[in-house]
Amino acid sequence: PVLRVALMGLGGYASRVAESMQQSRRAKITGLISGTPEKLKSWGEKYGVPENSRYNYESFDAVKNNPDIDAVYVITPNALHHDQVIRCAAAGKHVICEKPMGLNAKEGREMVAACKKAGKQLLVGYRMHFEPLTLEIHRMRMAGELGAVKFFQGLSGFRIGDPTQWRLNKALAGGGALMDIGIYALNGCRYMVGEEPVWVTAQETKTDRVKFKEGVDETITFQLGFPGGVTASCLSSYNMNNLDRFFLNGEKGFAELQPASSYGPIKGRTNKGPLELTTDRPQQAVQMDEMAAIILDGRKPVIPVDGEEGLRDLVIIDAIYKAVKTGGKVKLV
Ligand code: NAD
Repeated sequence: PVLRVALMGLGGYASRVAESMQQSRRAKITGLISGTPEKLKSWGEKYGVPENSRYNYESFDAVKNNPDIDAVYVITPNALHHDQVIRCAAAGKHVICEKPMGLNAKEGREMVAACKKAGKQLLVGYRMHFEPLTLEIHRMRMAGELGAVKFFQGLSGFRIGDPTQWRLNKALAGGGALMDIGIYALNGCRYMVGEEPVWVTAQETKTDRVKFKEGVDETITFQLGFPGGVTASCLSSYNMNNLDRFFLNGEKGFAELQPASSYGPIKGRTNKGPLELTTDRPQQAVQMDEMAAIILDGRKPVIPVDGEEGLRDLVIIDAIYKAVKTGGKVKLV
């Protein structure tokens, strides 16, 4: 069977998802949710979504009565995810939610609980979890090919443009670079190291207080400690380009991805040489095929993408912001 998906929020990333889904084998667009009538019309015509499966932000609870929609993919600004996900679950639909899943751990817990109560699955749009080179390094580490892991470095950032965009608005973004791009380094260190961190320290640098207002972080460096003694050192920034690199060091070898989390192609190498694994399929097509298998067939992905996984990142993000404020070491339990 095919996963029939309604897209919510028809912006930049939704456009990429929609285009990529044309190459998906197991997921198709059967619904649209937007506040802009012209977008509903043009997207509806382009992707063959009939008028009775087009909704706005007031009317979308009615997806409940639409038998052609199995899941809603929420691709709106971060601050809207919490309420929208809960409404979709209450309407009896599975939910795929973009990262960050919510604004903080409290929101995340409520989202997980609401989906559980409704008996619906909650997945987070972590596309790297299905990316071939990422999975190959994960496999190498699991197979012991790198030996005991000692250190991870994750660098995630880009120089952000337009100062009026929602990403630089605390109320809509919930924070700054960490919520948006630093989350790749954070999430990456967890699946690359293969343990959950037990402490975090963090430092913030702000060079432009006009562009990056109170509560919107420009650059944060953060460090995580893992139970086995591994440490991770990460950089999250809205003020640097060419910043997209993962480096995992073990006793027997290293693995590196650069770029590590772009839309592709991802490039990798180890101490033995380049990692030669390429795919001509867009990441989002692979992601949607895998998510269809998770939702419809109960497949367990190698690297989880469920609500609990999204929540763990939010717990650590809360701890990073706390560490920035206090200057101290924040323990994670
Ligand atoms: P965007 O600004 O391009 O699109 C956001 C859409 O939400 C717009 O169509 C806008 O009209 C709509 N919207 C609905 N209510 C709104 C409101 N109250 N205020 C502002 N806009 C509103 O943003 P985007 O880049 O598509 O990001 C959307 C989400 O997707 C974010 O959570 C982001 O983190 C995530 N994202 C994920 C990836 C990824 O690779 N997984 C990449 C980009 C974005």
